[in-house]
Amino acid sequence: MNSRKPYQLVSREWKNSDTVFEVNGTKIGQDLVMIAGPCAVENQEQISTITEFLAKLNVKFIRGGAYKPRTSPYSFQGLKTEGLKLLRDAADKHGLGVVSEVMSEDKIAELEEYTDILQVGTRNMQNYPLLRALGKSKHPVLLKRGMSSTIEEWLLAAEYIVSGGNERVILCERGIRTFENATRNTLDIAAIPLVKSLSHLPIILDPSQGTGIRDLVAPVSFAAIAAGADGLIIEVHNQPAEALSDGDQSLYLDQFKDMLPTLEKIAEIRNKQFDFQSELTLSH
Ligand code: PEP
Ligand code: MN
Repeated sequence: MNSRKPYQLVSREWKNSDTVFEVNGTKIGQDLVMIAGPCAVENQEQISTITEFLAKLNVKFIRGGAYKPRTSPYSFQGLKTEGLKLLRDAADKHGLGVVSEVMSEDKIAELEEYTDILQVGTRNMQNYPLLRALGKSKHPVLLKRGMSSTIEEWLLAAEYIVSGGNERVILCERGIRTFENATRNTLDIAAIPLVKSLSHLPIILDPSQGTGIRDLVAPVSFAAIAAGADGLIIEVHNQPAEALSDGDQSLYLDQFKDMLPTLEKIAEIRNKQFDFQSELTLSH
């Protein structure tokens, strides 16, 4: 039988046990990880309000783009270094880990200084020089699926990083382009159990880019956790209507809080635990 896949190190044929690594106290791949925060860091007040709120819920990771890959060159491109500083300062006050996107090889060192996990965006999934350079990084990499990429191409992108020596890769399904335009992308929920069967790497879901519609974020997140995802990365904003990017898909803070008890119940059915343990959920 020759079922050898083109990717090797990331495959279950190479290593059958789930890859687990600890970041900021969370055993990613074992505990379910929750990463939440705005699409982009906008100003000090925004990021400190959101961070404080997440910290109260015991969320362990904040996300926020400082270098933003925007479709239009005229859209807000992010606060860059200033944004990274604001994000790190806010996170440090509450002991949160930081996730932010690295768009190019020459920015890896800077992103490493301010973050705990480096995000590779959908548009960069096939930026092979970037992937190769991340293979030498000491930071874990959150690798989004390319919006037009097959699962095989995605796993081969992960193989670039792992074969370079960095085994700490988290795959992230974030929806793909199809003929359907009622949602921003078409979320491939089936990718979660399929990737789990093909690879030992952890896989999480981004329901925000995946749907583009805030009211779809909770139901789709429930589905992903039920389907075996290792966590979620969700956009939340203190004032979604004023957001400089992705406001329509950003949850209101209370909307985010309200979905947590259900997520915990679904996790429990799987004999899993989320890394947050909010008082809210504990009192249920
Ligand atoms: C984001 O997380 O804000 C983002 C730009 O994601 P993606 O690369 O999946 O579009
Ligand atoms: Mn976004």
